[in-house]
Amino acid sequence: MRIVLLGAPAAGKGTQCKSIATQYGLLHLSSGDILRHQRAAGTELGKKAQSYMDSGALVPDEIIIEMMTKAIDKAPAVGFILDGFPRTVNQAVELDKSLACRRHEIDAVLNLKIDDRTAAKRITGRRSCPRCGAVYHIENLKPKVEGICDNDGTELVQRPDDSPEVVANRLRTYHEQIEPLVDYYRNNSTVYDIDADRDVDEVRACVFENLDALVKA
Ligand code: AMP
Repeated sequence: MRIVLLGAPAAGKGTQCKSIATQYGLLHLSSGDILRHQRAAGTELGKKAQSYMDSGALVPDEIIIEMMTKAIDKAPAVGFILDGFPRTVNQAVELDKSLACRRHEIDAVLNLKIDDRTAAKRITGRRSCPRCGAVYHIENLKPKVEGICDNDGTELVQRPDDSPEVVANRLRTYHEQIEPLVDYYRNNSTVYDIDADRDVDEVRACVFENLDALVKA
């Protein structure tokens, strides 16, 4: 199964992707995570992406497309779930072309829907561990000791692009890009609209219900 997961920042894409990947044996490929690893490793790619990411802008298509098609090439035959990519129609078109060369296609697009106020509240309260990547929230998902990672005792940080000033820009960018992208997929694939303004377990159950039906079809 080859799946694209779309959703506003903090719609719960990462959490749902992990569950989906485990449930169906898929490779989870998050463009944001790959970029953050590249930055942490100090690679050329990471350096090129840095200023775009810190201001909440999109990294140029040619950089992202090359990075993600290489990652997809390494996916197992059972398939993958894409998280954060594609973000533009151009990226989606290039992804489809690259898959078509292997006689593959995107089987389903999951569109996690959430309103901007909820998204902004979720994002600005988010804290993460710079060592293990665990994600917390100052209200909804507190660590045992305030500001400290439960897994390894590292001090939690706010991602630079999760600050309130950058979040407004990320949400604006998201809306500008996402609507044409969803339209593209409505014409070229099967799109499932999922209300993500619910408990994480309810969202997961809804996602699995749709994907189970797809697998059986
Ligand atoms: P995310 O963790 O998915 O919110 O991504 C963090 C940042 O990485 C974004 O704000 C962009 O600067 C960059 N990024 C991630 N995925 C993409 C993509 N598909 N196209 C362009 N930029 C991206």
